[in-house]
Amino acid sequence: MSHDAPTVGIVSLGCPKALVDSERILTKLRSQGYAVSPDYDGADVVIVNTCGFLDSAKQESLEAIGEAIAENGRVVVTGCMGVEEGRIRAAFPDVLAVTGPHQYEAVVGAVNEAAPPIHDPFVHLVPPDGLRLTPRHYAYLKISEGCNNRCSFCIIPQLRGDLVSRPINRVLMEAEKLAKAGVKELLVISQDTSAYGVDLKYAESDFRGRLVRSKFFDLANELGNLGIWVRLHYVYPYPHVDQVIPLMADGKILPYLDIPFQHASPHVLKAMRRPAHAEKTLERIRRWRDVCPDLAIRSTFIVGFPGETDEDFEALLDFVEESDIDRVGCFRYEPVQGAPSNDLPGAVPAHVMEERWNALMETAQAVSAARLQTRVGREIDVIIDSVDGDGATGRSVWDAPEIDGGVFIPHEDDLSPGDIVRVRVAKASEYDLEADLV
Ligand code: SF4
Repeated sequence: MSHDAPTVGIVSLGCPKALVDSERILTKLRSQGYAVSPDYDGADVVIVNTCGFLDSAKQESLEAIGEAIAENGRVVVTGCMGVEEGRIRAAFPDVLAVTGPHQYEAVVGAVNEAAPPIHDPFVHLVPPDGLRLTPRHYAYLKISEGCNNRCSFCIIPQLRGDLVSRPINRVLMEAEKLAKAGVKELLVISQDTSAYGVDLKYAESDFRGRLVRSKFFDLANELGNLGIWVRLHYVYPYPHVDQVIPLMADGKILPYLDIPFQHASPHVLKAMRRPAHAEKTLERIRRWRDVCPDLAIRSTFIVGFPGETDEDFEALLDFVEESDIDRVGCFRYEPVQGAPSNDLPGAVPAHVMEERWNALMETAQAVSAARLQTRVGREIDVIIDSVDGDGATGRSVWDAPEIDGGVFIPHEDDLSPGDIVRVRVAKASEYDLEADLV
């Protein structure tokens, strides 16, 4: 294959955090003059950014590596599954290099070796916001790596290590740059956003001539000054989260919290080693909604965790109902190689897990439908994601991209992605709204 500039393709698997890693790798390679190929054929080398969270994700990663080898043949593997280099090399002896999560330099080095860059100062220009894989109007903002928690079903701390927060001035500078480049919505991500800055002992750093603390509240408050939508993901229901709710009530950041509760029964939470208590959590959510009645909560839950009894599961259903969780994602428990929960007794049979999954999704759907009904007749802001001949599709402040529902505005095909428009909600279904421009 011959090109003026070497060309790289990327297959990005896994969570939004992995997507941010892919963006960083691509930004670095673009700054060295590489072109990005949308397909296997045009690429001098293909990077596969893998996910190693669940065994099913590992399987998917192996399949993606196999496909890239078959289609292109020159493959560099990176990401969470990269820690299992032996397994990857056993299956695919021809991979050029295997690197683990966050080893940006090593990935870039491997690509440089496989397809050396051509020095051209004009090609080396990169857009000011770096290169992003998300649409232009929203961007993920990664504030830390790793995690200090030790949930028994999770191997992320083994893969990524303890929490390492980025100093706040770097995070804010990146956020400011993204806003200047036209991003309208920032999605703050990490493994545990509410723990931000703990490892730095909340150290202050200079941002635009002011000292700002690397702390969850300060981060939310400062991002709220940018004048764009700011959405918080992967937050724990710790007491200090109370402080950001007034920022939501004041419209500084979006009234949205993505809190992966995972369960509600104290017995299961203990086995999961999760820092939470359902009773206190319910009280906390009620207080949050007293301060900010519009608050939407998204959460994920695991059903069929080892030892989960019928009573535990009932407690989970009650919690979802009583807490009015707006958006629910539900996983069936899956043992992950290396996770302590594999040794727990009381495996839940597959058919019981399936029944519980269905029951939880049914309950969650009813809660979602009832919550959305309360929005009918209201005037709300919607950010537009896509437009076609039938109309425009966007999201309210209560919907994150890719995981939540949306708002459809029929017949409005003059709008553009990234527009924020005022609409009146006309109808609601289980997960989505339909609205008309005001
Ligand atoms: S909080 Fe728990 S589930 Fe999330 S990354 Fe940390 S250890 Fe894993």
